Amino acid sequence: MKFTHYMPSRIFFGAGALDQIGKIGLPGKKALIVISAGKSMRQNGYLDRLIALLRQNGAEAVVFDKIQPNPVKSHVMEAAELARSAGCDFVIGLGGGSSIDSAKSIAVMAKNPGDYWDYVGGGSGKGQAVTNGALPIIAVTTTAGTGTEADPWTVITKEDTNEKIGYGNDHTFPLVSIVDPELMLSVPPHLTAYQGMDAFFHAAEGVIATCASPMGDLYALKSIETIARWLPVAVKDGSNQEARAQMAFANMLSGFVESISSCTSEHSLEHALSAYHPELPHGAGLTILSVAYFSFFLDRIPGHLYESMARAMGKDVDALPADQRPAAFITALKKLIAACGLDGLKMSDYGVRREEIPALAKNARDTMGGLFELDRYKLSFEDTVTIFEKAYR
Ligand SMILES: [Zn+2]
Repeated sequence: MKFTHYMPSRIFFGAGALDQIGKIGLPGKKALIVISAGKSMRQNGYLDRLIALLRQNGAEAVVFDKIQPNPVKSHVMEAAELARSAGCDFVIGLGGGSSIDSAKSIAVMAKNPGDYWDYVGGGSGKGQAVTNGALPIIAVTTTAGTGTEADPWTVITKEDTNEKIGYGNDHTFPLVSIVDPELMLSVPPHLTAYQGMDAFFHAAEGVIATCASPMGDLYALKSIETIARWLPVAVKDGSNQEARAQMAFANMLSGFVESISSCTSEHSLEHALSAYHPELPHGAGLTILSVAYFSFFLDRIPGHLYESMARAMGKDVDALPADQRPAAFITALKKLIAACGLDGLKMSDYGVRREEIPALAKNARDTMGGLFELDRYKLSFEDTVTIFEKAYR
């Protein structure tokens, strides 16, 4: 048993938690608020409320509102320049994973010279160490998906080279995270489903990664149990506050898993898909890949890993013959996907062509090769192609 558990973010969880922004000791006097290019943060009144709470607490704010669902490097650089010129001394990501991830990357680039890709490791990134740290980061999550409020990771795409790469260090943990399920009530059913499945795979991959530990499993199996029970409820009735709170909780647990254990190559495969097809939501891409991905590993990794996840998902594993227990996880996964209305998702609906598969497999291995190292069975290039092929419809 061996692990490191470092999770320095102060998390305010629960309905109404956003109000803490008006009360806590803020890390500065002027915030750069980072939101998406969509309208929801304004339409739902979240942006105005956040600005009013900051004002009440003696801070002003500048807004950067261009973030795309798959956030890009050029916006990180543009917003970092804005933070510097406006004299912002902390960054708030308000919204889903794309806005919070961008806030983390912007916080780094507001304090460090050069280009963001000088610091990213993997792909064509130079992997330099940041010397000046980062501006303090506050995460206000309005979705239950990436877990970014509870981990140091940010995923940004370099547009010209189709590289979608995760990055993070001790400076990119949020100083404060607000997890307020009331802010999630307005997320539409399909996005609720995609985001919830992303949280599910952060936990499931965390269980099968070589760096898994009892500490990470504690969070991961509770997250898997909670998502299997509550995600279908949240998808069917977004106004169900209990379901939203349970999903926010599970998502946060999955973020802890990301901090302690890791994703595996399923995320590398998905990043290749959505780097080439940015209109494909991350959680949808993972869901499309997942049955083929986890089936590939079924007879290649220790069976107790899938057994524990099947049990967490409510399967009566012990009633099955020993050799059939691991496969119960695949059955439960298919059932969850169907219960969330996602069994009709297809790569081809997002413009992915079968002929692209070798290039996607190469991209996954070139840009996110690190996660393949954390698989318990080392995938060859051909294996990677096989998983894409099996998942293709
Ligand atoms: Zn993810």
